Amino acid sequence: MSRAMTVLEAGMRLVVATHNAGKLAEFRDLLGPHGVELVSAGDLGLPEPDETGTLYAENALIKARAATDATGLPAIADDSGLAIDALDGAPGLFTADWAGKPRDFAAAMARVDRELALRGVTTAGARAHFVSALALTFPDGSERIFEGRVFGTLAWPPRGPKGFGYDPMFQPDGHALTFGEMTAEEKHGLPPKGAGLSHRARAFIALEKAVFGG
Ligand code: IMP
Repeated sequence: MSRAMTVLEAGMRLVVATHNAGKLAEFRDLLGPHGVELVSAGDLGLPEPDETGTLYAENALIKARAATDATGLPAIADDSGLAIDALDGAPGLFTADWAGKPRDFAAAMARVDRELALRGVTTAGARAHFVSALALTFPDGSERIFEGRVFGTLAWPPRGPKGFGYDPMFQPDGHALTFGEMTAEEKHGLPPKGAGLSHRARAFIALEKAVFGG
């Protein structure tokens, strides 16, 4: 019986199952050093599957598996979101949806502020965390899941032009800057250069240990 194929090696082609340019840039930073050749689902014109799961991991698997099935290549996908304690974990799985279509994250952040105000909660200083579930799928049917979280507080008004999505309103614990004020290296750089701070970086560190053996 052949061994399940759950490793990645330099020179392999891997589909990044995202249409989000911000996430793609982070995946390039994270996977680049391993010499894996990345193509994105957006560049390949693959359709975006419906995210019908009730867990981040399920949605990540739906996206990665759809890309593997369409291309015959291994694929990686992330499903992520922002959970705000005072909103009982919202927007959570609906984090992207709060930005409407076309995506407008200034509007999404304003909605967070409004929803907190309705509950009598001050946005600045409210507890929140980002979650990232990473799914890796292989053409032989095998798959792996890794998760990462980063805890912090909300900043209001949002600060910083960098990053994407809700970055300007999230300040990770132990840091004076929001993700929107941090360089890419500060936000998601991996050790030894960076601290592996972001939820996606943390999930990636777990993936790296398991899949690249490093
Ligand atoms: P999905 O994972 O594509 O379903 O979307 C998750 C949404 O969460 C994204 O559209 C972003 O708005 C938000 N998000 C996920 N990760 C980050 C991050 O690192 N910074 C800011 N926003 C994020």
